[in-house]
Order: sequence, then structure tokens, then C-alpha cells
Amino acid sequence: MSLIPHLINGERVTGTGRSAPVFNPSTGAASREVALADQATMDQAIASAKAAFPAWRNAPPAKRAQVMFRFKQLLEQHEDKIAQLISEEHGKTVEDAVGELKRGIENVEYACGAPELLKGEYNRNVGPNIDAWSDFQPIGVVAGITPFNFPAMVPLWMYPLAIVCGNCFILKPSERDPSSTLYIAELLLEAGLPKGVLNVVHGDKQAVDALIAAPDVKALSFVGSTPIAEYIYSEGTKRGKRVQALGGAKNHAVLMPDADLDNAVSALMGAAYGSCGERCMAISVAVCVGDQIADALVEKIVPQIKALKIGAGTTCGLDMGPLVTAAARDKVKGYIDAGVAQGASLVVDGRDLVVAGHEEGYFVGGTLFDKVTPEMTIYTDEIFGPVLCIVRVGSLEAAMQLINDHEYGNGTCIFTRDGEAARLFCDEIEVGMVGVNVPLPVPVAYHSFGGWKRSLFGDLHAYGPDGVRFYTRRKAITQRWPARKSHEAAQFAFPSNG
Ligand code: NAD
Repeated sequence: MSLIPHLINGERVTGTGRSAPVFNPSTGAASREVALADQATMDQAIASAKAAFPAWRNAPPAKRAQVMFRFKQLLEQHEDKIAQLISEEHGKTVEDAVGELKRGIENVEYACGAPELLKGEYNRNVGPNIDAWSDFQPIGVVAGITPFNFPAMVPLWMYPLAIVCGNCFILKPSERDPSSTLYIAELLLEAGLPKGVLNVVHGDKQAVDALIAAPDVKALSFVGSTPIAEYIYSEGTKRGKRVQALGGAKNHAVLMPDADLDNAVSALMGAAYGSCGERCMAISVAVCVGDQIADALVEKIVPQIKALKIGAGTTCGLDMGPLVTAAARDKVKGYIDAGVAQGASLVVDGRDLVVAGHEEGYFVGGTLFDKVTPEMTIYTDEIFGPVLCIVRVGSLEAAMQLINDHEYGNGTCIFTRDGEAARLFCDEIEVGMVGVNVPLPVPVAYHSFGGWKRSLFGDLHAYGPDGVRFYTRRKAITQRWPARKSHEAAQFAFPSNG
């Protein structure tokens, strides 16, 4: 079985550490092994990034941007290969994999604007013959730790921007589906990135802990589940690092009585069952305002859930593939069992789905619960599977209270034709990303991405303008060139323009 190596200082390195199997979720078979870094391998990667930093920080931003231009072209050229690799190890459909790659490429395009993004701010004559400017300088060696569910897009949220800002990067991708992430990183080297500026080191907790402990790693970007986000945020900040840690989610869609139901149902189908529900922005709760819209939703959506085309993600034209691992499948089935035991009404049950020819794959069919109440675990917890819960409430205010009381605040949306309701929702909802008749309001690359409450730890959101701030340190410079032959006496009062 082939061993997926690390990428350190431009070279493929296997190290002498442990390894772990990588499975094809459609067949349940282990298809590759991935090297898991030990301390020595991580030290090697950090040393390589540190050595590359002085030259890279001084490379003109326009030169750095040129590498990103070539990288974008290579990503587009190799789209099919990347989508295939994603699908083989993650299980999502190839069309969905292409979608994630295209959203990742948006971030590379944004990074191509480095000279503009890093222009800084300038004022002439802030005092007599005194000019002032703010410079955005790189931090040094920074690291990113990414989840399995977007092996191409989430790393591309991080390192293109970090790198054009002048930093050197160590990426620790998910050990569950690392091949596409590594392949993409090698394309960046092919685009002309100097050795050591981007290093990819695979691993598990041991590798992450080595990054947290390393004094030379100055900042950590994390995307993954909330318990790990909290851990990395608290351990990283304790050591004086800059940390942004994006966590889990439970995203609600509110259906108002006046919603365009046909379009809302199509939107919910894609947002709840696309990628088998393994998206941090997946809609997992439909909050129906009134029984009438709830009954109409059930009537329309049930046949569509039963008609979902499910199979091996690598087959074209499907709606849904398998879950990522056997453990993920068992966890999702466990939640469905719990929903039944806790009294929710199971309208469509995906537990017994068997895909012919893929009997050992990690499949769960589209599942729908109605009459879910807030104390049930299918409502409180992030299931991360193809399970949609309907909660019935009496008013928009009750729907908003429900959402605001939830511990997570990543994404939400409202389906309505009423501008006043939509405006109130946008103003008052305690969630970081909001859609109005848009089910997956993932911000484009030139806005930033981030949730509220226990969906994000840190002050700045990911990518976009916040990303530039996260990956740079502001330096304010005040400079005086006295007029020729002038002489000024010492001043003991605090300098001002008064
Ligand atoms: P995960 O938390 O299990 O893993 C994320 C990363 O952390 C991986 O690289 C993994 O190797 C590492 N890791 C795992 N256990 C660790 C430990 N004990 N100590 C240190 N590091 C550890 O998440 P996942 O299952 O890969 O991804 C799914 C989760 O990510 C979901 O909760 C989802 O909502 C979340 N997610 C959030 C966003 C967002 O933008 N908020 C985006 C994508 C995914």
C-alpha cells in the first residue's frame, strides 16, 4: 500500500514515525497509508520554514502574487485529478469536490491582490515635517490545522493568504483524507514557491501538540470540531501565540409562512443532504413558523429525500456519497436511535440503506425527523450527517429565540418574502453568517468567514480582510526629516498638535 509522505523543504519525506490507514469510504477498504509525524519530523518542518522566512519576508509582494497566479492556473488545469482524490478519500461526489475546489480557488485569486492588500496606510504631515504610516508585516512561521470535510478548500482559506503576506506555513491536514491536500501543495511548489515556504506535515494529536508547543510557531489557524478548537485556542494563547480556531455548528433555516416553498425545499435538500451533511454550514434544523408550513414542508420534501441518488462519490451524477469513516456512520446512526428513543417523529429513516455493489461502504440514507424539541440530543448536538430535524414554533420571535439560545452560531438562513421579517432576522440573530433565501451563506473570498458563540474562538474571522489582519502584524512608523539647518529646542511637555 502506498504511503502518503510529508512535504518538507520541497521534498517528500516519510519520517520514521507511525502511520495510519486511509480508507475509501465507498468501499470500506483501506486504500493508502499516511505517515504520522513524530517530534523530529515536526522539528524538521519548523526548521525548514524558519530558514525560508528571511528571504520570503523580503520578497516583493508582487513576486509572491505571481506565484499565486501560476498556482491558480495549475489548480484549474488539474481540477479533475483533485476532485477524484477528494472523492476517493472523503466520499463526497466529484461534482461537490469540484465545487469545493472552485471556492478554494477564490481564495487564491484574493491572495493574488497581495500588493494592494499590503499597501498599508500613510499620512503626510501628522506634525511639522513628520509623516506616519502603518505597515503590515508578516508574523513569521505560522501553522494551519484543517478538518477532513474540505481537504482542498479549508487549507486554501489559510496558506495562500498567509504566504502572500510574507509568512512561511506549516499545514497539518486531516489524516483521514490527506492525498488531495498534498497534491495541491505540490502544485504550489510547481508554481515556483521557494522551498520551505509551505510544508505539509501529516499527523494526529501528537503533531498538533508539537505545533502548539513550538516557540518558533507564532500563529495557529484551526478549523475542526469545537472541543479541539477550544483546546487549541486555550493552549496556543497560553503560550502567547495568535490563534483563530473555528469550531462546529448547528445551522437553522427558518421557514416563514410566506416562504416560496418549492424553492425553499430545493435549497434545504442541497443544504441538508449535500456532502452527506458533512459541512460546517449544512442546514440540520428547519424551524417552521406555524404547523401549516411544517406540514407542507413534510409533504413536499419526503418524496425528494426518498429519491436521493446515493452511491460511490466517484460516480458522476449522484446527490450524495457515504460518510467519511465507519465511526462517523456509527455515530450518525446512534443519533438517529437516540432521536427515536427521545420521542421525535422519524419520518424518513436512512439507517438501513445498502448501496448495491458497495455493501461495506459507510452509507446512511437521507433522514428526516419531525416534531423535534430543544432538549433532544438530535437538536442540541452537531450530528454531521444527512439528518434534518424539523422544529415547529409559533412565531418568528420564537424561532429567533431558539437559534439565539443554541450554543453554536456559525450559519443560519431565513426563507421569506417579507422584507421586514428578513431585516429583523439579520439585525437580531446571534449568528456569524446569515442568508436570506440563501441556504449556505458561505462568504465569498473578499468577505471573511466566521461564526459566533462556540463556533469560533479568537477575534478575527478566516480569510478575506480579517485573514490579512490575522497573518500580519501592524507596525506604526512615525518619521521626521527636519527642514534644513533648523534646530528645535527640547520639549518636555508630551508632543501634540495643540
Ligand atoms: P476534528 O476536530 O476531529 O479534526 C480537525 C483537525 O484536528 C484534524 O487535523 C485532526 O487531525 C486534528 N485533531 C483531531 N483530534 C485532535 C486532538 N485531540 N488534539 C489536537 N488535534 C486534533 O474535526 P473533523 O472531524 O476533521 O471535522 C469536522 C468538524 O469540523 C465539524 O465539527 C465541523 O463543523 C468542523 N468544521 C468547522 C468549520 C468552520 O468553518 N467553522 C469548517 C469545516 C469543519
